[in-house]
Amino acid sequence: MSEQHATQARWGADYVQAISPYVGGKPIAEVARQFGLQPERIVKLASNENPLGMSPKAREAILAAMADSTRYPDNDGYALKQALASKLSVPAEWITLGHGSSDLLEMAARALLTDADAGMYSRYSFIVYTQAVQGVGATHQIVPDRDFGHDLPAMLAAITPQTKLIFVANPNNPTGTFLPADELLDFLRKVPPHIAVVLDEAYVEYIEPALRYDSMAWVREFPNLIVSRTFSKAYGLAGLRMGYGVSQPALTDVLNRVRSAFNTSTLGQAAALAALDDLAFIDQAYAVNRAGQAQLAAAFEALGLRYIPSQGNFILVKVGDDAKAGARLNLALLQRGVIARPVDNYGLPQWLRISVGTEAENATCIAALRDHYAAS
Ligand SMILES: *Cc1c(COP(=O)(O)O)cnc(C)c1O
Repeated sequence: MSEQHATQARWGADYVQAISPYVGGKPIAEVARQFGLQPERIVKLASNENPLGMSPKAREAILAAMADSTRYPDNDGYALKQALASKLSVPAEWITLGHGSSDLLEMAARALLTDADAGMYSRYSFIVYTQAVQGVGATHQIVPDRDFGHDLPAMLAAITPQTKLIFVANPNNPTGTFLPADELLDFLRKVPPHIAVVLDEAYVEYIEPALRYDSMAWVREFPNLIVSRTFSKAYGLAGLRMGYGVSQPALTDVLNRVRSAFNTSTLGQAAALAALDDLAFIDQAYAVNRAGQAQLAAAFEALGLRYIPSQGNFILVKVGDDAKAGARLNLALLQRGVIARPVDNYGLPQWLRISVGTEAENATCIAALRDHYAAS
């Protein structure tokens, strides 16, 4: 090795070194290997996926689109954007496609923040906001939560001249908390118009009908608003990485300038397009989630466990009082073939986030919980 080729121990700027790599839910195959379990018997309730799988229409569309995968995808996602535009009653030019909506969150940070700016989000909100802000070397403005959800008045009060982008998740992950429409609208009216707001609606399909609101009307009203949504959760297409943002033309323009070339795949576009049509599938996902939430909540209550009522397809449950409680129960569940999600990286080491599964999957999880608490 020549002197010029001496090993370099650290690459990248300090702000890059400070990024914590994203940690996903454990894959089934990994848990099977690690704990010597049959993969078929493992229940994964770790990543808020749809336990029903995907719409049969999406599956057919994927198979049909296989042949086209030799060519590059449509970089503009014409057909999918047209379909989304007509479903949402916005112009197709207002839509930005992402490989997952996480891509949109990153695009917003890349387009709107420099290392001289600040991005704001709530404590206990989606970890990708942290990564997106850190990824561009911007300053983090992390506003304390109110009862595990966003404290919008506190977020308004925390705005400084540096603030250029605010993330709000509704419903929020990992807590499942929900902001009523009137509070959100009041917030949007008070945010200065030069600050962009990303309203992250990854779980919009799971909101109770009585609480739903028309965020597309807000996009028409507020030129500084980006609404992001995903095909990963209710649509059951997490592995295909499809999401989108809706915003007025000036914001959409900058998002598309930082968008990677061909960021959504041929299969993903085809699947998303077909999935959009299958309203019955989304209705079924909603119903299974409500029933599963009730099933899990009843079990938590019977075990004396505190949980946060959720408008998502997951529940945050407090599993003990010490700082190792989440890790301990997580391990106990893994040994019994149930993959839940530790949330110590969110600053919630006494809690676990459990995705709502099918009735049978929830029952497996509940049995494992009972087992653990009976033995301890
Ligand atoms: C899951 C999730 C997303 C999106 O995930 P993608 O798979 O990248 O679309 C976005 N926001 C929140 C709050 C989520 O929980």
